[in-house]
Amino acid sequence: MLENIAQKFTDITKQLSGKGKITEKNIEDAVNEIKIALLEADVNLRVVRRFVNRTIEEAKGEKVLKAVDPGQQFTKIVYDKIVALLGDENQALNLNSPNKTTTILMLGLQGAGKTTASAKLAYKLKKEGRNPLLVAADLVRPAAIEQLKVLGSQIDVPVYFEEHKDAVKIVNNALDYGKKNQFNTIIIDTAGRLQLDQDMMNEIIAVKKAVNPDETMFVADAMTGQNAVEIAKSFDEQVGISSVMLTKFDSDTRGGAALSLKSSTGKPIKFIGIGEKIEDIEPFFPERVASRILGMGDVVSLVEKVQESVTQDEAEQMQKKMMSATFTLEDYLDQFKKLKKMGSMQSLVGMIPGMAGKINDEDIDEKGMKREEAIILSMTILERRNHRLIGPPRKKRIAKGSGTSVAEVSRLLKKFDKMRLMMKKVTKNKKYQAQLMQQFGG
Ligand code: GDP
Repeated sequence: MLENIAQKFTDITKQLSGKGKITEKNIEDAVNEIKIALLEADVNLRVVRRFVNRTIEEAKGEKVLKAVDPGQQFTKIVYDKIVALLGDENQALNLNSPNKTTTILMLGLQGAGKTTASAKLAYKLKKEGRNPLLVAADLVRPAAIEQLKVLGSQIDVPVYFEEHKDAVKIVNNALDYGKKNQFNTIIIDTAGRLQLDQDMMNEIIAVKKAVNPDETMFVADAMTGQNAVEIAKSFDEQVGISSVMLTKFDSDTRGGAALSLKSSTGKPIKFIGIGEKIEDIEPFFPERVASRILGMGDVVSLVEKVQESVTQDEAEQMQKKMMSATFTLEDYLDQFKKLKKMGSMQSLVGMIPGMAGKINDEDIDEKGMKREEAIILSMTILERRNHRLIGPPRKKRIAKGSGTSVAEVSRLLKKFDKMRLMMKKVTKNKKYQAQLMQQFGG
């Protein structure tokens, strides 16, 4: 997520940080580099120009040149400007009170992730206590209805559909059905084509008129950069949108769409899609994204993720187990699961201040973790609780069952033994703390 742009911005601001004095020339150079970085990130040229002019104007003022740490002051200006580009603050969904129906219309081109986004939103709102109904009104893409049904059953949210091509009729009937059956949030997945075409627009305009939605959310593919912004503008002009959900943000290293959308369309990004799984949806927080872009990390999101995945009780229990050396392979496996729930290691590392862009995929041994997980899953429960039970014949079976080798199984068991030994020592001696941390890193 945003690795490329984060790396560039970190390099630029680092050059100025720590300098007791900076000149106007230093500022001009830095702003010039920022300009290049933004253009490379595929940010709209007009947006870049405005950004650059405003930054120069403010940075050349007395406040920066005479600041105690001018580099820091400069970074703060850039940070504020990026927050403003991203839309200042998080904007919530337009939701009615639970006893009144809320309708959400999802728009976008085929492949942008509209169907996935509809289900993700339903899942999120359901978790928040609402009673959502999904409506399959994408009658163009043949598999869209089936896909929505599959996603709906995964999250236990009903999907309304009809076997004909009259979208307006379908949504009208869906609204009646929803109201009669106490669904208070109706999310409608509309038709998308590969390119904009007038037939699709006309259909969506008619559907919007029939629904009169509380929220008209444009689903934009972050990977398509400025193109996504242009399409959003076009939808806004013809249909009218109220917000944007930016999908595939997890795969977007440049950030161009995120940085241009608000200032080009005036519409806030309310959510981001950060993976293919149904829970991979997050509210969009400009400050957090700006922190990431400037390589300051995103500690708030990281803490929230940990809190979502591990309760305070669980954390305390785990700590106790570690300290009393009753930590088993079963617990170790449990930790993998919790880590997985938090998302990919790469995305977690990106949230740690100063780490964005510094760690490559090769540095994070996710494959190794998966192999270790496979090995543990091939053990019996008794073996997971007491790995000393595993003799040579069982090692062979476990290696076969997990598609690994006896050497790998032995290595994991040895590593685990070492880890437990270290945990025991840690309770007695603080200096082992660092070694223990290293051990966890693999
Ligand atoms: P639609 O044609 O707009 O309805 O698109 P889909 O919902 O079928 O999504 C198209 C593809 O994008 C699918 O393979 C999805 O799994 C994938 N996708 C959707 N959202 C995200 C996301 O936030 N991150 C990633 N990595 N993939 C996504």
